[in-house]
Amino acid sequence: MTRVVLATRNHHKVEELREILADVCEELGLDIVGLDEFPDAPDVVEDGVTFAQNAALKARSAAEATGLPALADDSGLAVDVLGGAPGIFSARWSATKGPGADRANLELLLAQLGDVREEHRGAAFVCAAALVLPDGRSAVELGRFPGRMAHEARGTGGFGYDPIFIPDDQPDPGGQRTLAEYTPDEKNGRSHRYLAFRALAPRLRELLRP
Ligand code: IMP
Repeated sequence: MTRVVLATRNHHKVEELREILADVCEELGLDIVGLDEFPDAPDVVEDGVTFAQNAALKARSAAEATGLPALADDSGLAVDVLGGAPGIFSARWSATKGPGADRANLELLLAQLGDVREEHRGAAFVCAAALVLPDGRSAVELGRFPGRMAHEARGTGGFGYDPIFIPDDQPDPGGQRTLAEYTPDEKNGRSHRYLAFRALAPRLRELLRP
């Protein structure tokens, strides 16, 4: 088995990625582990200006700290009429910290969109997935999950901006659900994170085949 570290201390993200890449892990004999197994690994300053740069920064830091091939992702919401904002600043858009941050971010974004008409409310969740090897070789791929911004929040699932994002890819044809009204399986099988890591799968086969 080759251990591959995912640059996160969130166990749910490790489990989710094991599911997304189950076929590749079996084929290549990979075991995805989290950074919590490496308490000395440093926190990374995400000072890139694109999702791809930030994902690569996190993966490079994890590869250097552990000596293992490392995976990382960086994601956010890009609204067309706002020129791609909040983008890489999605997590700190309202500058609110702590448990109320998701709600404050969402409310600020809704207010900024005001009464912008339906046809101008296009947006996408974007995720960059990066692989960095200890020898410095690397690959980055993007996943884009397009949709549009709702006029008000709906649904209790998911996190972040899910209650105000209506994906184009609906579980039932013609549906108008927000992402917070998807089941976890419905979201995880089509999300930006899923698409980015599936796009990265061929690069894992190239770079990690024993
Ligand atoms: P991270 O890169 O996964 O930490 O995500 C950065 C920020 O982007 C989060 O704090 C959310 O505000 C937003 N975001 C990323 N992915 C999602 C998602 O699937 N649903 C809702 N918000 C998301």
